[in-house]
Amino acid sequence: MRYYSTNGKAPLATLEKAVVKGLAEDKGLYMPERIKPLPQEFFDNIQDMSLQEIAYQVADCFFGEDVDAESLRKIVYDTLSFDIPLVKVEKVKELKGEKELPIYSLELFHGPTLAFKDVGARFMARLLSYFSPLRGSQKGSVNVLVATSGDTGSAVANGFLGVEGIHVYVLYPKGKVSPIQECQFTTLGQNITAIEVDGVFDDCQALVKNAFMDEELNAKMQLTSANSINVARFLPQSFYYFWAYAQLKKTLSNSPLKGENLGKEASPLRGGLEGSVVCCVPSGNFGNICSALFGKRMGLPISRFIAANNANDIFYNYLQTGHYEPKPSKQTIANAMDVGDPSNFARILDLYGKSHEAICQDISGATYTDQQIAETMKRCLAETGYQLDPHGACGYQALRDGLQEDEVGFFLETAHPAKFKQTVDDICGGDIAIPERLQAFMKGTKQSVSMSKNFSDFKAFLMKQ
Ligand SMILES: *Cc1c(COP(=O)(O)O)cnc(C)c1O
Repeated sequence: MRYYSTNGKAPLATLEKAVVKGLAEDKGLYMPERIKPLPQEFFDNIQDMSLQEIAYQVADCFFGEDVDAESLRKIVYDTLSFDIPLVKVEKVKELKGEKELPIYSLELFHGPTLAFKDVGARFMARLLSYFSPLRGSQKGSVNVLVATSGDTGSAVANGFLGVEGIHVYVLYPKGKVSPIQECQFTTLGQNITAIEVDGVFDDCQALVKNAFMDEELNAKMQLTSANSINVARFLPQSFYYFWAYAQLKKTLSNSPLKGENLGKEASPLRGGLEGSVVCCVPSGNFGNICSALFGKRMGLPISRFIAANNANDIFYNYLQTGHYEPKPSKQTIANAMDVGDPSNFARILDLYGKSHEAICQDISGATYTDQQIAETMKRCLAETGYQLDPHGACGYQALRDGLQEDEVGFFLETAHPAKFKQTVDDICGGDIAIPERLQAFMKGTKQSVSMSKNFSDFKAFLMKQ
């Protein structure tokens, strides 16, 4: 399979090049030349398959031509070493009488850093290692540089931890990252080096960009980025949409008294799920929802999507007006979605042949202020006992607001609420328990290299490695 650039001015790339380079020469985003549909048989039996098996079948459509079956299977199974359960958000009392709302949460926070980015980061690390020319060498033959303001660093560092042939340098701004975030990439050791930069996030990003442009450095070592626009981080996210559908199908078909799951009113669904499943994705850079749209192209029977935004409403406005107007990002309590110019918008436009009308047919939007997010978190907890995080709250509320009578909906719980403990406790008045995985990081010893924000210092450091 070859990959073209959304800007249309770069040569077609192999998978290897697309993964190692990340961005095309014309600064466009890579897209697979073809999207292979999965056979009907796959969807007929999907409810009986495991997460890993479903993911392998989907991965085969994208990567099967370029990665041998045994290696691809291993990459998929290693990546998905944790569960991604679909959980019913319990009964909503006194809403439309005593009806239960058919709303489910796809919990994507059971991985090492408790957020959905674990899936893409783990897959990319393993695929990069597969392509690494000196596979198995002790010293990293590929060096990944990543600048982080917090969450990307932890997902990437943990995704690449212990992966052969790769060394990761995480650059983060001193004193600007929360202690919970910091410990997730500074306590790992092995092939992960944390670099504490005396500056702000933009300084970290500038150091990384300068390193990619420095000829001497690139002649000495192979440098690459683990940016979220990389096809190897982005395409694997489609796996769990198929898995969500499989779980939904299983749940609904296993229950002869479907009223138990759906409420009597929802009985039309007994005939099948087709045409009735709505998927809601809390969105920032739009990589996650974009992989879901790829899934739909492959035949996944999801009838429509909702992109839930916080106060950064650029995509929402695009849907209403047909005009895309990037804005500076606004800081919100759902901060992983604080994006003012979502990079994967280019992919969505490309996928729909730049047709606003076609995009609106599949996707609707929603936008919520911090106050609305907080109210949703409090109300959902009181009514159902389900603890949302600020990002998932946007997804849940958008389903509550947009789900129609004969539809079943699931939203993505993109992070564990304990990752945002302070915010969540302040809003919900509780003391949310920190999962053991997260506690384990906090017990580790911080190891990091202090660095000035001058490129010459950073370069000298890399040259010595
Ligand atoms: C990254 C992130 C998002 C946004 O995902 P995109 O793919 O950028 O749209 C949402 N929630 C959490 C917790 C995230 O970390």
